[in-house]
Amino acid sequence: MTALAAAALFGAVIGSFLNVCIYRLPIGRSVVWPASACARCGRELSWYENVPILAWLALRGRCRSCAEPISIQYPIVEALTAVMFAAAWWYYGPTPLLVSRLVFGCALIVLFAIDLEHHLLPNVITLPGIAVGFGFALFTEPGWLASLLGILLGAGVLYAIAEGYYLVRHEEGMGMGDVKMLGMIGAFLGWQLTILTLVMASCAGAIIGLLLIALKRGDMKYALPFGTFLALGAALAGTAGAPFLDWYLRLLGAA
Ligand SMILES: [Zn+2]
Repeated sequence: MTALAAAALFGAVIGSFLNVCIYRLPIGRSVVWPASACARCGRELSWYENVPILAWLALRGRCRSCAEPISIQYPIVEALTAVMFAAAWWYYGPTPLLVSRLVFGCALIVLFAIDLEHHLLPNVITLPGIAVGFGFALFTEPGWLASLLGILLGAGVLYAIAEGYYLVRHEEGMGMGDVKMLGMIGAFLGWQLTILTLVMASCAGAIIGLLLIALKRGDMKYALPFGTFLALGAALAGTAGAPFLDWYLRLLGAA
């Protein structure tokens, strides 16, 4: 119980850093310097205003000096990261796979939020992510071969789709950010779960896209950053994917 609470606490602190990455990476600012400040009045936050979740609640979501609203995204990301760390600790225990999955999860949270807001998947996350995922696979699941095939398949499939779309429509349909992101997902999860990620992300994207069109909420291409769906698909595949694939293959074997 103490260990779970410590994992959650550690996760909340990491979540606070992920917020800094989400805010600063798209505008090209350093994530380590300077200290956090109000986006409007520029006043630096004191130590207690940096306390995850609680500070936002205590300030009721407003800057102490200028009353500028502070996005609810901050406590949400912190709480989500805290829950992820506690759940992963409970599920994996102290193993190399725990570290691999947590690093992967943090990358997914940052990519999810940045793509949702800016339609952007920074290379500074996806490219090192490919190398780090492959590095972990030397010691733990999915193993180096499945990881290598995951990188090639993940990036390869989306690259082929992007090129094909460009040849047919003469405009960019899918960004290279998505290509590198699915390569990163392949590195961490291996090729089987990468296929599952792509299928789930595409289905979710299609369903939400059709809903938006039905509700006449504008152009599908601009409404839907695909990286956001890739992050959701990868999170599902990374947690429930292996049992699901087992079940599915048994089903095929029985038929
Ligand atoms: Zn302020």
